[in-house]
Amino acid sequence: MRRFIVAGNWKMNTTKDTGSQLAQALAAEVPKEKTAVEVLVCPPFPYLSTIGDIVNGSGVGFGAQNCYHESPGAFTGEISTEMLSDVGCRSVILGHSERRHILKETDADINLKVKKALDAGLQVVLCVGELQSERESEQTEAVLDTQMTGGLEGVNSAAFDKIVIAYEPVWAIGTGLTATPDQAEAAHQYLRNWLKDHYSAEIADSTRILYGGSVKPDNAKELLSQENVDGALVGGASLKAELFIPIIQAAV
Ligand code: PGA
Repeated sequence: MRRFIVAGNWKMNTTKDTGSQLAQALAAEVPKEKTAVEVLVCPPFPYLSTIGDIVNGSGVGFGAQNCYHESPGAFTGEISTEMLSDVGCRSVILGHSERRHILKETDADINLKVKKALDAGLQVVLCVGELQSERESEQTEAVLDTQMTGGLEGVNSAAFDKIVIAYEPVWAIGTGLTATPDQAEAAHQYLRNWLKDHYSAEIADSTRILYGGSVKPDNAKELLSQENVDGALVGGASLKAELFIPIIQAAV
């Protein structure tokens, strides 16, 4: 019932040329008509327009990796949701662990961005996930609860058709370590129950929950076949068409 999403988070990678080639390869490969998998790429800000032009009319959507919570104005260095919409961008990743842990974004910062992006009509991919030390001290569920509660504060049920959750255990991101299918499924099940308890059974049933953290062609199929895993947020392996395409295919 839930349509899979496979999203590529390019992070601070690619050049205009390499990003364009990657987008062209994906646009050529992903069917235009609606399939069982929604495909999304999230390039760096300076290339959004270029990549948007390339994927326009193809089966590949494009999103941003961040946004600011205010409307245009005197906020040097920031990017507004209006600017994202202006270049045709329909999605934004928020609360990624690199923004939480390197750029020191708090749940309160993320919550402001979530609400602003939803107000602007953007699809939000809200990332949550625990550190290795938190998993080892059995804090995983408490961390997920804090990040979900903080990130979604003041967000009502009506917004959920535009919300996607990404479970990304921090210890699995860019490390080559992947959560086992059982570990991923347990966290996804927890998140789905969380949605049921805080919103409704309908929202829990319909909200897509993606797994992220060293997803590769050889582990995608098993992860994506878990009952509560509705797709993948892919970093490193989204930078090569020959790796990203098999991950898309694993979701079909
Ligand atoms: P990775 O990154 O696939 O390189 O582990 C995932 C992410 O950070 O979204």
